[in-house]
Amino acid sequence: MRTDIAIIGSGPAGLFAAYELVKNTNYKITIIECGKEPLKRKCLTEETAVCQKCSPCNVLCGVGGAGILSAGRLNLRPDIGGNLEEFVSKKEANELVTYIDSIFLGFGAPKHVYGENEENIELKRKAASAGVKFIPIKQRFIGTNKSPKLVDNFMKHLQRKGVNFLLGRKAETIKKEGNLFKVKVSKETITSKYLIVCPGRYGANWLAKQAKKLGLPVKYAPIDVGVRVEVPSIILEEIIKVNIDPKFHIYTKTYDDFTRTFCVNHKGFVVKEVYEDLVLVNGHAYTDKTSNTTNFAFLVRITLTEPTENTTDYGRKIAKVANILGGGKPILQKMGDLERGRRSTWKRIKEATTKPTLLDVTPGDLAMILPHRILTDIMEGLEKLSKVIPGVTEDSTLLYAPEIKFSANRIITDKNLETPIENLFVAGDGAGVSRGIVIAAATGIIAARGIIKKAEQQRNNPLNSSP
Ligand SMILES: Cc1cc2nc3c(=O)[nH]c(=O)nc-3n(C[C@H](O)[C@H](O)[C@H](O)COP(=O)(O)OP(=O)(O)OC[C@H]3O[C@@H](n4cnc5c(N)ncnc54)[C@H](O)[C@@H]3O)c2cc1C
Repeated sequence: MRTDIAIIGSGPAGLFAAYELVKNTNYKITIIECGKEPLKRKCLTEETAVCQKCSPCNVLCGVGGAGILSAGRLNLRPDIGGNLEEFVSKKEANELVTYIDSIFLGFGAPKHVYGENEENIELKRKAASAGVKFIPIKQRFIGTNKSPKLVDNFMKHLQRKGVNFLLGRKAETIKKEGNLFKVKVSKETITSKYLIVCPGRYGANWLAKQAKKLGLPVKYAPIDVGVRVEVPSIILEEIIKVNIDPKFHIYTKTYDDFTRTFCVNHKGFVVKEVYEDLVLVNGHAYTDKTSNTTNFAFLVRITLTEPTENTTDYGRKIAKVANILGGGKPILQKMGDLERGRRSTWKRIKEATTKPTLLDVTPGDLAMILPHRILTDIMEGLEKLSKVIPGVTEDSTLLYAPEIKFSANRIITDKNLETPIENLFVAGDGAGVSRGIVIAAATGIIAARGIIKKAEQQRNNPLNSSP
């Protein structure tokens, strides 16, 4: 099949790239997506963030991508979930975020924005006096239950504009022959002049293999390793009024390492994130179903230098050890047990005032699975955080592990996200240029605009043929 522009992946990066292209050009656009359409994406188990029973995983794969069918929190800042100033000026970065937000609103995102109130200042002051940096962010919260309809509206808009969706079809290989890209999809080959590859976290390993075959330069990115903390929701009540997903950055005392809170789910649920060979933890929040607890990730940033920069391998080894000791399940430990240097047991967990929302776990000992430096960072970081959120280091606080945020290898590109292979663009988490919905969407738009500029230059050059 011949198309002008092929896009691999229909997460935020792919959808927003297509949106920008249909708005400004008449090119024939084909999206290749291995998952399902939004309203058919259902996970077999509600306790699992990523599921191997449905293949490919309905939480990670399908139109809308990973995040839009999860909590769907839009961080309306150009430096959270990536950094747009790597590609555009500060002014353009802010304009892009506003533009993306307006598109989400147009397709049905709720009007309410969190984080626009004056209590921000009070929280900033309290955090600063504890040596903690509070990052004020405007946020819009779509919610797991509302996202499918929003994404369905988005997809229908693109279809009305002529975008062809090839669903349930996995891109297998990418080749360049002459001026054209050949993407093998099952028994068919999709031929295009321009290609945007944005396969997200699910397709990151596949993209790394294609990059190697195509000779694209890549580099390892930092990863985040830590725990999912669960506490009674009441202790975060006041802070959630200021920001629904409050972000705190903390440098630790002993190692001066960077730690942070991430993905706060107020009255939410801790879930498993299951891969073929690893089990991690994550969290969800719904707008129509609540628990009595709040959970958030507390993560330590890991960068490696010589003799290995391979952060992915390091993170996987930590997860493997945790999974061996957990018998294939995440480990759960009560803060009080961790502090007393003893393993948690179900009896001790049942005595805690905080009741776990994820029960398919093994009570255990974090000191047996996390390297000393990481565990020290977590304990010292949480200690500082408890001065801003009193109660987070109480005996009954629950700690689930491992929570690991792997980063895809970063594909080296220019500022338009064009790789050294002419007309081959990348975007989103799979290419290592984003880590969140809004920035992934923005990189999709940047790649689309890059193609528009490139096509313009090529049209003005009589030696090139337009698509
Ligand atoms: C459980 C969970 C909760 C999250 N919550 C939030 C949140 O609240 N806020 C936030 O900002 N971020 C959140 N994130 C992160 C966010 O989901 C991602 O940053 C964002 O979706 C990345 O967008 P993307 O387009 O790069 O990739 P994805 O959204 O991952 O989309 C990639 C798409 O490509 C498809 N694909 C992959 N390989 C192939 C292939 N070979 N052929 C065809 N199709 C392929 C996949 O099926 C997928 O649909 C969450 C992530 C997870 C896992």
